[in-house]
Amino acid sequence: MKSPVSLVRCTSYDSEDLDRSIAAAIELAGGFDPRGAIVLLKPNLLNANGHERAVTVHPALIAAMVRWLKAAGATRVLVGDSPGWQPQDFVGRKTGAMDAAIAAGGEWADFSAEAEFELPTGKMARRFRLARPLAEADLLVDLPKLKTHQLMYFTGAVKNLFGLVPGLQKSAFHLRFPERGAFAAMLADLALAALPDFSLMDAVVAMEGPGPNNGKPRELGLIMASRDPLALDWTAADLIGYDPATIPYLAELLKRMAESEAAREGRSAKDRQSPAWIGRADAIEVRGLALDEARPASFALVPILKENDFFHARMPAWLHRLVRDCTVPRPRFDHGKCLRCSGCVRICPAKALSLVPPREGGSGRVEIDYPKCIRCYCCHEICPEDAIELVRGPFPGPRPSR
Ligand code: SF4
Ligand code: SF4
Repeated sequence: MKSPVSLVRCTSYDSEDLDRSIAAAIELAGGFDPRGAIVLLKPNLLNANGHERAVTVHPALIAAMVRWLKAAGATRVLVGDSPGWQPQDFVGRKTGAMDAAIAAGGEWADFSAEAEFELPTGKMARRFRLARPLAEADLLVDLPKLKTHQLMYFTGAVKNLFGLVPGLQKSAFHLRFPERGAFAAMLADLALAALPDFSLMDAVVAMEGPGPNNGKPRELGLIMASRDPLALDWTAADLIGYDPATIPYLAELLKRMAESEAAREGRSAKDRQSPAWIGRADAIEVRGLALDEARPASFALVPILKENDFFHARMPAWLHRLVRDCTVPRPRFDHGKCLRCSGCVRICPAKALSLVPPREGGSGRVEIDYPKCIRCYCCHEICPEDAIELVRGPFPGPRPSR
């Protein structure tokens, strides 16, 4: 059985364009029936930098999606996300998401309260504490933004679900799973615990370069949709020029679906062990625009690092650390741009950052303890001033002893 993924042209955030494109994308993707249901709509609202910088889903798209759900018979549409570190309501107001959702007939949902979700077959995590509105809703509609991502290379429907983890608990996951592969496997568990019923992607204006916060807006003029978040992300990653099999969490999810016998026959969308998602890359049916018709001429990607190849696996630990120090990008602070808002200090899961108080004649600055840094890039992801650059090369100055 194939998973349909729709690609529909949408060149602006005008409400008429959006209404038409959303309706077409949903129909082409096989339809979606929210009649009589409480729906949780989960847009990507990473931080207050907002849609002008292509960091968050455009508020007009959130409003259009609420309108579509209500018109299709949803009894209530709850809208919310848990941003990286800023308060949810602050981000909701600054990005326009809160007003747009309410004006369209939705309800702004509180993501600070939690409920527990179990996944007995989880590989990295068997229990998640996620935003309570997910437990209150009958259906989950995932509304990601197509962006590059420094840690995971690409973010779409699956990675967007990490925003269901309330507040700074997200940092704890980074600390618990500091390696890219382990973090990707945890994201696969999370996707299976959350089980989105439908996903619609904002690719009208995407983000290229050093996403998900400091990249550049890039017009793609597309709305994409699917019932299958894995198929949707696989297609979107392919569209912008990645080999989707190199995106760690997509490869992990595909492997799990392929391994599951039930993945082949008779699956139900709400089966946590084996939802009706693709188990093979060729099980995707692209509908609407052809992939090559929609593909951008070039798209600035986050380069894929080959950390787990044959040689890395056989290196002694000291050499592995040295190679990592030289090859895996590390954060570097531009103290001229930094506003000393302390966001990075608060979110850093490894406690590698500190805000040093002003010395005589100085103004204080963020300092990093490089050996503690696990390269999760949470700091880079949330810095409102683009004051953190990711650079390769050994630590500056003598390497502190461990
Ligand atoms: S580097 Fe960015 S996040 Fe950190 S204190 Fe400075 S402005 Fe804030
Ligand atoms: S300094 Fe930045 S990249 Fe390093 S552990 Fe802290 S948040 Fe992650």
